[in-house]
Amino acid sequence: MKTERYLRQILFQPIGHEGQERLGKALAVVVGCGAIGSTAASLLARAGIGYLRVIDRDILEESNLQRQELFDEEDLKEGLPKALTAEKKLQRVNSTVRIEGINADLNPGNAEILLKDAQVILDCTDNFETRLLINDYALKSQTPWIYSACLGSQALLMNILPGKSLCLRCLINSIPFPGTLPTCETAGILAPAAKVIASLQVTEALKILTGHQEALISGLLDIDLWKGTFQIMDTQTVRSLTCPACQKGEYEFLNAKSFSLTTTLCGSNAVQITPGGSSARNGSKIDLSALSQRLQSLPDITDVSQSPYLLKFSCRDKSLGARDTMSLNWVIFPDGRALLFGTKDPTLARTLYSQYIGI
Ligand SMILES: [Zn+2]
Repeated sequence: MKTERYLRQILFQPIGHEGQERLGKALAVVVGCGAIGSTAASLLARAGIGYLRVIDRDILEESNLQRQELFDEEDLKEGLPKALTAEKKLQRVNSTVRIEGINADLNPGNAEILLKDAQVILDCTDNFETRLLINDYALKSQTPWIYSACLGSQALLMNILPGKSLCLRCLINSIPFPGTLPTCETAGILAPAAKVIASLQVTEALKILTGHQEALISGLLDIDLWKGTFQIMDTQTVRSLTCPACQKGEYEFLNAKSFSLTTTLCGSNAVQITPGGSSARNGSKIDLSALSQRLQSLPDITDVSQSPYLLKFSCRDKSLGARDTMSLNWVIFPDGRALLFGTKDPTLARTLYSQYIGI
């Protein structure tokens, strides 16, 4: 370990040499590399964590640049999946960290593989389905995880320590969850709110990884940057003694036989299609070159382009009422997952997926 590089952090007494050594051997997983996740991943890499796994399912869009600090205009031109761009950027920040950028949608078919060996999981996602999946995995594997969310100028954070604190299902089964209703498209996100909550989240992760659980924030932290308010809700009173996850050990999200195949992406006019769990589990890949050739021969398909990481093409929206000129834009990844831009209709997405991809 290079002491000089981390000197200011080592001089901070609660971390010291011992904490830095521990950090250098630790593995953290960041789920979601958006506004919160890209800042969190950057801070962890700079702090000198040993292993960092960053999981994200999206490709970069122009509207991401307002708040996602790992990405720039050059990355937008490259059009790679965010997880791969993040890996490249983070490796440039700190070449001594072992970084894995994983372009995948976390689901019950891959969660136990992708979250394996994490000493802490940072939830930087934007949806409760994935959070409840992380919650189940964390309880089953006794892994601490840190919930975070950001909407408008409000941001939330909560440490979840299996066996010690309440879990996410205790909370969302008992009280309406402030700031987390699916309105990100209308409320937007103030970038500094995401940065603040990412900084707090990484601070909590550093406490966990350097053996200072006694210093963790207890309860649900609720911040509003615009109003200038910081408050902590006591969550002990809402701990559920009948919680299926932490009290009964029923991991319904992790064990889901059929996780949703289509998801409308929050903040985008887009639908994600994930093929059934079996293909995700056995790691089978689509032959993108063969698919590309097949698509180019179809009359309704235009703008086919391919790289080792993804295949892009456009097709005409043939749904009822759609204008003739309107086209839908596809991105297909080697694991069969697809993003369809230009619609929020999951049925249309499934129909077109089976028509063009044929799985
Ligand atoms: Zn619970």
